Amino acid sequence: MTDPAARAAELRSLLHHHIYRYYVLDDPEISDGEYDDLLRELQAIEAEHPELVTPDSPTQQIGAPISEAFSPVTHRERMFSLDNVETFEGLEAWRDRIVRLLDHEPEAYACELKIDGLAISLTYEAGHLIRGATRGDGVTGEDITANVRTIRDIPHVLLGDPPPVIEVRGEIYMPVSAFKELNERQAVEGKPPYVNPRNTAAGSVRQKDPAVTAARKLSLWAYQIGYIEGGPSLETHTERMSWLAEMGLPINPENRTVETIEQVEEYVRVAEAGRHERDYETDGIVIKVDSLADQDVLGSTAKSPRWAIAYKLPPEEKTTKLLDIKINVGRTGAVTPYAVLEPVFVGGATVTHTTLHNESDLHRRNVRPGDTVIVRRAGDVIPEIVGPVLSMRPPGLPEWHMPKTCPFCGSPIVVPEGETKAKCTGGYACPSRLREYLAYFAGRGAMDIEGLGYKTVDLLLSEGIIHDPADVFTLKPEDLLGREGWGETSVSKLLAAIDDAKDREVARLITGLGIDHVGGTIARTLARRFGSIDALMAADEEDISAIGGIGPEIAGSVVSWFAADENRRLIEKFRAAGVRMADPVTRDESSDLLDGVSVVITGSLDGYSRSEAKAAVEDRGGKVTGSVSRKTTAVVAGASPGSKLAKAIDLGVPVLDEEGFERLLAEGPSAIGN
Ligand code: NAD
Repeated sequence: MTDPAARAAELRSLLHHHIYRYYVLDDPEISDGEYDDLLRELQAIEAEHPELVTPDSPTQQIGAPISEAFSPVTHRERMFSLDNVETFEGLEAWRDRIVRLLDHEPEAYACELKIDGLAISLTYEAGHLIRGATRGDGVTGEDITANVRTIRDIPHVLLGDPPPVIEVRGEIYMPVSAFKELNERQAVEGKPPYVNPRNTAAGSVRQKDPAVTAARKLSLWAYQIGYIEGGPSLETHTERMSWLAEMGLPINPENRTVETIEQVEEYVRVAEAGRHERDYETDGIVIKVDSLADQDVLGSTAKSPRWAIAYKLPPEEKTTKLLDIKINVGRTGAVTPYAVLEPVFVGGATVTHTTLHNESDLHRRNVRPGDTVIVRRAGDVIPEIVGPVLSMRPPGLPEWHMPKTCPFCGSPIVVPEGETKAKCTGGYACPSRLREYLAYFAGRGAMDIEGLGYKTVDLLLSEGIIHDPADVFTLKPEDLLGREGWGETSVSKLLAAIDDAKDREVARLITGLGIDHVGGTIARTLARRFGSIDALMAADEEDISAIGGIGPEIAGSVVSWFAADENRRLIEKFRAAGVRMADPVTRDESSDLLDGVSVVITGSLDGYSRSEAKAAVEDRGGKVTGSVSRKTTAVVAGASPGSKLAKAIDLGVPVLDEEGFERLLAEGPSAIGN
């Protein structure tokens, strides 16, 4: 058993270290989730052993003492932190506590998004901005007036009839789009990316040179009045927010005032569901007792107001160990490094691997095997390593370099002239490449051979039964019968699926060839234009790039694919195996039926997968786009449609159900509105 006093002392010093890195250096070493875990551990020890609470415990203090780089500002009213909960039970316990203290249930709760940025205090005298200050330790903040003046959202002069003195509080944040843009610029300049919008916003605002702040496109949401002299007499937080909005301060449009804790919970659900659709990051929801009189009665603890609570959303960044960097050879021969991580639970899932882009990107990000790294997983975005924690790097840790030869086939790995991606030169003889290629060839987007997934591909390759995708079509029952998991039924099912696939339309075969830059959409365009593999093979770059939507890069890639001997041999093997090489020449007008038509699909359809619906439109010369505009011909809405349906209605774009969609496919645009 560890001695609680010793552990509490250790936690205090650990937390102080992280507080300094986070608030003063804007360069944390651990993620917020891990910081919160340490803080909670200390809180638990202190709750059990109140005698161990020291005045300097991070549980008793707000933020950090200010940096000497800025002049100190004493806040007229203390700036607070927020207590937090992570569950609805926690939220209800907070409500019960309030009801006990007030002796009645509050009439209303103000619900707001908890913006992940940094707190700012803005003082206006006679309507003019005279000071901007950070929260600091809650009593004393840092004077960053010159920097704050460069932020466009922050009015220099208030509108209407401002009071003699008002101190407004809000959160300065960096929009996600501005953060991405900043990182794209960093990439162009070969500089390491910034880790996340929150720390970048904090770093940008706490600059000695206001020009740096000005270049960073920061924004503000105001959420509180800290101090006021004069002004109208208002009774609720909600009225105050409306008044701030009238004076020109940005108030978040998602703020809502509700009456019951159940409605608060509904707000939390909706706010969480929209977490990745906003152009700014949120790390929770803040709930405030709306009545100012009730707020006065409730007052504050040393650290936080009793009348507010933060409902925390699960953290989307965690730190973990980068155990190793390995490589994959993909279906086109491209060599991609990937990270092997000490498993880490983040953004609702355990992450063990992430892809890395290429060697130069790794060097730019300065990530090395053995590093502690920050892993981010937000919503359905693929998890990524955002950067190393340099202060935790063991001394002498070597950089990672791309191996000179392929670990799967021993062939040299090269970076072709003018490209950033390394390639294995082993061709289809490279087992890793062949495995990926076959799985892709048989996959739903290409030849769609049911039952031919990685597991079967692995068996066929390891037993030396097939050597390229064409061999799939000459498989015989005895190749599989008797092997583990393969009986009469499963073998004949697979062979029937393979037989079916021989007659797939040419576009699917073109997709399956795995030509660089040629996915399903381009393959369909090529098939529509050329009608057969032979015609495509005979085309030169000029013929191909004459097609709308196809540029010289794609054309070049197609021509050089067909020029390679091994690929021509593959085509001949397909032909010999009886794979369809040409589409029937229907050349009827159906291929132009939807010419000029642009369709948006939302929700799920019964009779079509998303890619089938897309193909059906494109085969008729139409386009499927991702967002609704006035130019959209129609929106096809299946079950559980998304916000695109609302947008269509809003813009007056025709909406089709599945039946209407089928009519459109059969009859063309004249079917709309029938
Ligand atoms: P907090 O961030 O949890 O809550 C208080 C803050 O919320 C306020 O000061 C305000 O700035 C902000 N806020 C955003 N929207 C708001 C709204 N609508 N109404 C009111 N306030 C709103 O608490 P804290 O004490 O300021 O900081 C703790 C946070 O900092 C935690 O998330 C913690 O993980 C992180 N932290 C991380 C490290 C690290 O090393 N990674 C170190 C220290 C602190």
